[in-house]
Amino acid sequence: MSALDLPGLPPPQVAGRLARLRPRMADAGVDQLLVTSTVNVRYLTGFSGSAGIVLVTAQDALLATDGRYRTQAAEQLRFAGIDGEVELVVGGAQLQREAVADAVRRGGGRLGLEAEHVTWAGMQRWAALLDPIEPVPTSGLVEALRQVKDAGELARIERAAAIADGALGEVRELVRAGSTEAEIALALDTAMRRLGAEDRAFETIVASGPNAAKPHARPTSRRLEPGDPVVVDFGATVEGYRSDMTRTFCVGGEPTGRLAAVFAAVAEAQAAGLRAIRPGLVAGEVDRACRDVVGAAGFGDAFEHGTGHGVGLDIHEAPAVGPGSTAILSAGVVVTVEPGVYLPGVGGVRIEDTVVVTDDGCRLVTHFPKDLAA
Ligand code: ZN
Ligand code: ZN
Repeated sequence: MSALDLPGLPPPQVAGRLARLRPRMADAGVDQLLVTSTVNVRYLTGFSGSAGIVLVTAQDALLATDGRYRTQAAEQLRFAGIDGEVELVVGGAQLQREAVADAVRRGGGRLGLEAEHVTWAGMQRWAALLDPIEPVPTSGLVEALRQVKDAGELARIERAAAIADGALGEVRELVRAGSTEAEIALALDTAMRRLGAEDRAFETIVASGPNAAKPHARPTSRRLEPGDPVVVDFGATVEGYRSDMTRTFCVGGEPTGRLAAVFAAVAEAQAAGLRAIRPGLVAGEVDRACRDVVGAAGFGDAFEHGTGHGVGLDIHEAPAVGPGSTAILSAGVVVTVEPGVYLPGVGGVRIEDTVVVTDDGCRLVTHFPKDLAA
């Protein structure tokens, strides 16, 4: 049975996340945390609306949102099993802010704001409203929790990846001389939606020939030519969770010249990165494993981005997998391994898988074959 046939997915275990956050808040020196990132709000409460904030206090929590989400927010808190521990406040912006400010004053102590997610103006507004309480910046508290995925989260990421695998299987025959990059990208996006994705995970990249030398090229009307490398980097989203995969094809068969050497080096580097992954490893070591291979092949200067990143509710999330990354990998962490080599004016090659760290290594989440011939 393929992952697409799964009759249902276990729900993510939202209950318990607030309790796991509180010791991290204490470690960071705050007694309360105002969560303004909508992705973090979703992670902590299950509420997936486009507007909402959560105040987490030492004992309680409050979710504030506007009238568009009155029914949805109540339903999602109940579905998550936390409607008894999270107070729901629904109303206009002013009412929400005052309810939060009242709760902050009741809770007392130091209030943390998510430095990466609050604007300068937003910070000033909260400071004025809460005067004399001065909010302090926090960084990455919820993001650190999000690194280790539970079974329900993994099931969604794997479903997204299976959809992407299926879409590329349908579209691969389009990767041939005469097709445009934009046609291929559109076909992929459409196939993912048809196969059950709620959205693509990010803007699909199809980059051919010299465009393949730009790691984040946007699809153009350029027509594929024989001998072109074609970098296809894309993913699907299922209930908020994303997948990420890159394959590089060679139009008309095997690459020649320098591109042949680049293909070989990137494939070997990517395999070395996958082999390196195990719990307890510093993420920077995965990057080093890939970079050593690319460097030994003589293309070190042409590998200009990090080796990978965490994937989950965001397409790029913790942990980073780059030079000097200090995060320690542990079972349940989902990361990508995506070395690439880019030769301006000539082309480029990137190969990327999403993997989940297991007790003794890692398991591929993305499975599409890595054959080059298109
Ligand atoms: Zn990617
Ligand atoms: Zn990626």
